[in-house]
Amino acid sequence: MLDKITQLRHMLDDSRYTVALCGSGMLEEGGLEALKKQERAYEIEEKYGCCVEEMFTSAFYNTRPEQFFEFYKNEILRNIPRKTATAEALADMERAGRLQCIIDTNTYEQMEQAGCRNVINLHGSIYKNQCPRCKRMYPISYMLEAKRVPLCEECNIPIRPLICLSGEMVDSQNMTRTTQEISQADVLLLLGTTLGSEVFKQYVKYFSGRYVVVIHKQEHYTDKEADLLIMDYPMNVLPQLHYGNETGENA
Ligand SMILES: [Zn+2]
Repeated sequence: MLDKITQLRHMLDDSRYTVALCGSGMLEEGGLEALKKQERAYEIEEKYGCCVEEMFTSAFYNTRPEQFFEFYKNEILRNIPRKTATAEALADMERAGRLQCIIDTNTYEQMEQAGCRNVINLHGSIYKNQCPRCKRMYPISYMLEAKRVPLCEECNIPIRPLICLSGEMVDSQNMTRTTQEISQADVLLLLGTTLGSEVFKQYVKYFSGRYVVVIHKQEHYTDKEADLLIMDYPMNVLPQLHYGNETGENA
């Protein structure tokens, strides 16, 4: 493992532009099972009488808002992953000038909370909630405190969490930015995700840089395409790079 850390450190130090992609493995290391993981999905179906695939959609949100918000508040807003060393290590890398952009699909703003600055929340954020009519924004506390469906105080209609539900298009500006970031990267870090990820593979094809690094606990058949593979949680790997001990652009 130490050899691989040294190798990774060399790749990052030589990189002109590094982009990190964060997938559901980042939630797992924070103690949260992805909603669609078999066991959790089964528990949810038992509890609500509907499967995650059905509830986490805009059709369900529009037609059965009460059930949607019951599920959303309990399973998503009250089930936030705990902090791990990954987000801090990424913030250190960013400050040391060794990481230029983070693309996160997890909607929990873990990286921003650790101080990362250039983050694209590809699937939105649970901290951003908006009335679709008057566009007023509401904090997460308002969503949690609402007895049933959180309603806009002005318009009396449901407030929409600005996250991407299954089957919805990703915000086009986010898509464009993601493609641009990846296409200019020298090194691409896949953290808690793989080259076979359904979400990322449409963007990864624009990568024309030098190295693809996969840091993920689970094996995947696409791993052989990576230039460096470390099969572990990012929280066990990234802090060992020790970028936190350095400051300045050329550290
Ligand atoms: Zn409104």
